[in-house]
Amino acid sequence: MDYQNVIEKIYREVQPLFGRGKVADYIPALANVNPRQYGIAVATVDGRLIGVGDYRTKFSIQSISKVFTLVMVLRHMGSALWQYVGREPSGTAFNSLVQLETEQGVPRNPFINAGALVITDKLMHLYPHPKEAILAFVRAAAGTPDIDFDTVVARSEQEHASRNLALGHFMKSFGNIESDVDALIDVYCHQCGIAMTCEELARSFVFLANRGLNPYNNEQILSISRSKRLNALMLTCGFYDESGDFAFRVGMPGKSGVGGGIVAVIPGRLSIAVFSPELDPHGNSYMGIETLERFTTDLGVSIF
Ligand code: GLN
Repeated sequence: MDYQNVIEKIYREVQPLFGRGKVADYIPALANVNPRQYGIAVATVDGRLIGVGDYRTKFSIQSISKVFTLVMVLRHMGSALWQYVGREPSGTAFNSLVQLETEQGVPRNPFINAGALVITDKLMHLYPHPKEAILAFVRAAAGTPDIDFDTVVARSEQEHASRNLALGHFMKSFGNIESDVDALIDVYCHQCGIAMTCEELARSFVFLANRGLNPYNNEQILSISRSKRLNALMLTCGFYDESGDFAFRVGMPGKSGVGGGIVAVIPGRLSIAVFSPELDPHGNSYMGIETLERFTTDLGVSIF
């Protein structure tokens, strides 16, 4: 398939939509990001990499990091993990507290903030140096050592973390968080503050399109069965309270972040990363979703 022509055509068509969304402003360092950025990268399971626009520009991956930490913890804990976090879409915003009280401090899924905090808590008990371990995992998955934390973003988020601190303390009161909550938020803000390009993100997710196998170094990152399950979670929970609409419009498992990135996969074929920082009201990239909708429509491929 001629992915290069398709993404170049979409790149031109989507340009007029600049200005429809709004950059995240609840983390001050993200409010300063140039809104007029747009890039697309496709990584195929047979090793090709295609890109257009700002696909080599670093940006804050934010909640996309929740996929990496979940994979790391699943590799160690397997299904024992599911007593601490659920596998159902929440239908609520990514930083919502509402379900936690009635559901005894067990978050609905690993991709809302509460669920991601439970995962990071587990990770902190599995790895003596959790921040370094996360970076090492992401670098290996993307096949490049050139990936780091944006410490300005991480610090900015940490200074405005009242809501995530509240989630952490609330879950700790139910016994579902073991770590010191300040230490937990420190690791969480750093994982969200990892800076990556579309190219690196597409490469680091292609194993989820390839039955868990990283095609660059032949490492089986997840078993076939767990890779399938991770895709199921991304499809049902990857876009918070917009997950249903994303499945309806796009039809790919994926994960977004408030930095404006989205990564999605078509199993057996490819992963695609889009970056554009202006967000819709659910915190997902406005032009990113538009791009992916056109991609699956123009190519006539999706998971359905
Ligand atoms: N770091 C952000 C937060 O915790 C991540 C949210 C997101 O990307 N949806 O609020």
